Amino acid sequence: MEPKLTCDPKSCWEIYDTKKHRKAMEDVCGRYRDFLSRCKTEREVVAWGQNILKAKGFSEDFSSDLVMRDHRGKTLFFARKGKRPLSDGIRLIGSHADSPRVDFKQHPLYEECEVGLAKTHYYGGIKKYQWFSRPLALHGVIAKTNGETVHISIGDDPVDPVFVIADLLPHLSQKQNEQKVSEAFEAEKMNIYLGHAPAEEKKEADEKDDDSTDRIKRNILQLLNKKYGIVEEDLYSAEIQAVPAGPAREVGLDTSMIGSYGQDDRICVFTSMEAFLESPEPEYTQVVIFWDKEEIGSDGSTGAQSLFFEYCMEDLIDAWEPETKFRNVMNKTRALSSDVHSALDPDYQEVHEKLNASRLGYGPVFCKFTGHRGKYGANDAHAEYVAWLRRILNEAGVPWQMAELGRVDLGGGGTVAKYLAIYGMNIIDFGPGILSMHSPFEISSKMDVYATVLAYKVFLKN
Ligand code: MN
Ligand code: MN
Repeated sequence: MEPKLTCDPKSCWEIYDTKKHRKAMEDVCGRYRDFLSRCKTEREVVAWGQNILKAKGFSEDFSSDLVMRDHRGKTLFFARKGKRPLSDGIRLIGSHADSPRVDFKQHPLYEECEVGLAKTHYYGGIKKYQWFSRPLALHGVIAKTNGETVHISIGDDPVDPVFVIADLLPHLSQKQNEQKVSEAFEAEKMNIYLGHAPAEEKKEADEKDDDSTDRIKRNILQLLNKKYGIVEEDLYSAEIQAVPAGPAREVGLDTSMIGSYGQDDRICVFTSMEAFLESPEPEYTQVVIFWDKEEIGSDGSTGAQSLFFEYCMEDLIDAWEPETKFRNVMNKTRALSSDVHSALDPDYQEVHEKLNASRLGYGPVFCKFTGHRGKYGANDAHAEYVAWLRRILNEAGVPWQMAELGRVDLGGGGTVAKYLAIYGMNIIDFGPGILSMHSPFEISSKMDVYATVLAYKVFLKN
């Protein structure tokens, strides 16, 4: 067929307007909501992935054809052997499992004005005001000196209590109202309400080290001790994250959208896992990786700038094809940095340049380059690679769109793409557009979830 002279993108709602597609879309989005509701930290995402893969026969034995490996429970690598040798390159999809949130400080507990509180330090790019006056859940781990790691999850089970960062009443906000948003909400005022009732008098009298002050904090410590067997010093070796409490929800009278915390980038984690599970017996070896620390620059031993991926690939090559060089595999590798894009926002259209903005419900979005101000800090995917991707998706009839993050010089962003590009592989950012990104309740289109799974399947197959 002759290609069309002009390109007129079509909404997935039109393309997939059949009962069969709608049913398949609802099925995948049901699983997606369940995943979002249960996995609120990178550790929980990695455990979720490991459980699924283990049940499918994946193991840590790199001499087998189905392998997986985690690093510190925060990042996950898994692979399925293809018919072709590794020297022909692999198909790689990399997303990130961490999301912006509010972390406990290492010395969190104190009491003030009859309230027991926890000091926090936010993680990633948040708009601080969005985190006040809303129910929060606490997820994380506390590592004890005896080697035991206690897992914490309070606030997401409907019978659990929740937590909150309280906001200032409007009656006394006159001064705050006149401040700049960046100054009006102070990080050091983002303290989480943990309790209010003092420790019981009797119990207290029994304790010799009691100084009869801080009875609310003492009560909180007693409760934590009873529930988890921990003492205050154990919090120094804890990673406790405050995240929005409650499940992912359908949004709109037509239930066409999904609203949830953490869709950046768990929408790509989930869709790449779905696509991977549905793509057995591949031509090329498939590798999927869920990174940590993307939201704070991909640093650390579990971020995309670490050598974890390289070590995994080296072991894979040693086990499968020891004569092949790592660099040769990388050179022929085709990869997707699967991360979210910002969909055209009906209320803030002025921050987008509409011709190059992505639209909700128009399928996953290619972002040829990210970065800011003159493409600084960008991975810029090669035109030839973009052409190949266009071809395989068009041949499969799967919709996609091409867009830029926002108006030039208004801001910008980065992903893991540039950290993988250094190996010489072909890589491009490709993921659904969402609204209200980095907020406690991000919005996605069900159709984009569906189309993204289909697109990743096409990629893994070709
Ligand atoms: Mn992201
Ligand atoms: Mn992000």
